[in-house]
Amino acid sequence: MQKQQKTLCLILSIACAGCQSLQLTKQSAQFQHRFVREQLVLHSDFPLPEQHRLVEELALQRERLSEKLLLPPTDEPIHIYLFAEGASYYDFLNQRFPGFPARRAIFVETDIELSVYAHWGDHVAEDLRHEVAHGYLHASVPNLPLWLDEGLAEYFEVGRGLRGVNQPHVELLAAQANLANWKPDLLRLEQLTSAAEMTQQDYAEAWAWVHYLLESGDDKANLLTDYLADLRQGVAGETLSARLKKRLAGPELAMAEHLQMLR
Ligand SMILES: [Zn+2]
Repeated sequence: MQKQQKTLCLILSIACAGCQSLQLTKQSAQFQHRFVREQLVLHSDFPLPEQHRLVEELALQRERLSEKLLLPPTDEPIHIYLFAEGASYYDFLNQRFPGFPARRAIFVETDIELSVYAHWGDHVAEDLRHEVAHGYLHASVPNLPLWLDEGLAEYFEVGRGLRGVNQPHVELLAAQANLANWKPDLLRLEQLTSAAEMTQQDYAEAWAWVHYLLESGDDKANLLTDYLADLRQGVAGETLSARLKKRLAGPELAMAEHLQMLR
């Protein structure tokens, strides 16, 4: 079976309120359809049924994320801009965000809005679960480290019922580990600052650390939720790798063993 190749996402943080509001006026003409579902504001260039099961799932993700990460839910709107066709989506990206890598879906945070852009293609469910997770996270936790932002989005992009297991990532990391091309290194991931430079393997490893912390038991989820609570309070404190080292003798080996069990 051919391995699924995932397209990376892109997080843009743009501090440009003036030009943004001008652009938004032009943008609203392009999306004739709009409805609000709880925290989500859906804009589309095609009629999207309000009762669509994907919309339902995205709305439920708010509670799922809040329960799993012990974060209080927020009310900041998350705008989702959907294109019926890939071609118009990529044209839009070229005009609106020139110079940025064209990704299958993107999350944009500006001074005034959290927004997601995507097109209604084969991967729309996974893409929207991923990007909307960024939306819920950014509405709640400021200054989330890049690796953790992506690791959590990769965890929540998996459909409900799979306990966050992102199988293509499990396979990729196992293959790279077998070739001696990879071993867990959270300290390295913590140094990453550019989403455009993150590789598929970085996304996979970020996911693997999140899954290990949330799903391997022994109270390790508290390490992650305490860290998120500190970030939320604006207390930088120790990095997650430093916290893990205090708690476990060999977190890298334990994470690799956790991955092995998921195969
Ligand atoms: Zn992402």
